[in-house]
Amino acid sequence: MTEPCCIVIGASHAGAQLAVSLRQQGWEGRILVIGDEPFLPYNRPPLSKTFLSGEKHVDDLLIRPEAQYEKVGIEFLLGQRVVEIDRHNKTLTLSHGEIFNYDKLALTTGSRVRTLDIPGSDLRGVLYLRDINDVEQIRHFIGPDKKAVIVGGGYIGLETAAMLCKLGLAVTILEAGERILNRVTVPELSAFYTRVHNEEGVQIETDVDISGFGGQDRVQEVQCKDGHVYPADLVIIGIGVVPNTELAEAAGLVVENGIRVDAHCLTIDPDIVAAGDCTNHHNPFYQCDLRLESVQNAMDQAKVAAATLCNKAIQYNALPWFWSDQYDIKLQIAGISSGHEELVLRGEPESGRKFSVFYFRQDKMIAVDAINSPQEFMIGKQIISKGLKVDKIMLADSSVSIRDLLQ
Ligand code: NAP
Repeated sequence: MTEPCCIVIGASHAGAQLAVSLRQQGWEGRILVIGDEPFLPYNRPPLSKTFLSGEKHVDDLLIRPEAQYEKVGIEFLLGQRVVEIDRHNKTLTLSHGEIFNYDKLALTTGSRVRTLDIPGSDLRGVLYLRDINDVEQIRHFIGPDKKAVIVGGGYIGLETAAMLCKLGLAVTILEAGERILNRVTVPELSAFYTRVHNEEGVQIETDVDISGFGGQDRVQEVQCKDGHVYPADLVIIGIGVVPNTELAEAAGLVVENGIRVDAHCLTIDPDIVAAGDCTNHHNPFYQCDLRLESVQNAMDQAKVAAATLCNKAIQYNALPWFWSDQYDIKLQIAGISSGHEELVLRGEPESGRKFSVFYFRQDKMIAVDAINSPQEFMIGKQIISKGLKVDKIMLADSSVSIRDLLQ
């Protein structure tokens, strides 16, 4: 009898964790991870930072060295795309026609960049920043006194702007919305990041409607509908991501803004789990369905999914958290602030570079954004996880130790 085989589609953060957790949870059969990039699973957060600057190399990005996977018998098939899943026959097909049988399947297909398809978007120097290859291309256009225009004022845009500015480029961010970080945070934080980027020399324009990119064989300018033109040697587009759900949808799994999974990361097929950016799942803290684009969620869901494949009933029950590094600022976020009714500020966002914002709904803390305030982040996380009550007046008073609020 041949040993059972679990195939993981997607050599992503979630895919790497799922494969390793599967072994740790006692899966004795074959584990094969298939990925379409030619690299072992790697950390994406440094791409817009130390990998872009050249401080880190590909080997430094790897989540685990090859030997660690070999030691526990995890196999990889890299640079290959799965094009079809046949749930009835429990097979999958690669783009060149090869067919694999599976007993269990894990979908960790992640997300891909939203593209901006307008005149000139195929010019050299108009680029995205999602994977190693993207950054290697961007590096060709970097140099002191070059002009970079970044389309989109989300985390990708802001982190990339901070690094390019440090590398000596003149940077302009063009954001379609009325403020940067509109989708993910409150006006107070948007105003803070606008001030910081301006202080560092980055120009930020909002309410911008881009109509095209101009240039001969490479990009030279960004054109806007109102006639404004921004000179550019390099354009980086960071306007969000879309989940990779097409394979799952074609296989008849439920897809609604992500592959639908239950609290065990199981799809409607008892032999198929999914984890990470590509899933839509229920969050018990917020009693709502979410699709989270974060490393932490990829890891948490992967562990649950691996346990499920080993017939262990662990439930996903994680408080989401995120972080972003820009210049000398570390932003740490715990929880989801959308739907808050009240916010409490601790510190002064209008002047310095250290403060926190706590979000409340029905007098319950639901999220914290901590700027260079790791203690506020840690304690906020505890308060939210445990559902503790806090005195908001004391919370707003920076002269009161945050630790004292837990007493
Ligand atoms: P994002 O957070 O969705 O931000 C995209 C921004 O681009 C939004 O502000 C959006 O404005 C704007 N935009 C959309 N269409 C535009 C257009 N045509 N012209 C100008 N601006 C436009 O996505 P992202 O920054 O590209 O990041 C991609 C993913 O990676 C996200 O999941 C992000 O959270 C993740 N990421 C996370 C971190 C971190 O946590 N540190 C770092 C990097 C990336 P509207 O909101 O008004 O549409």
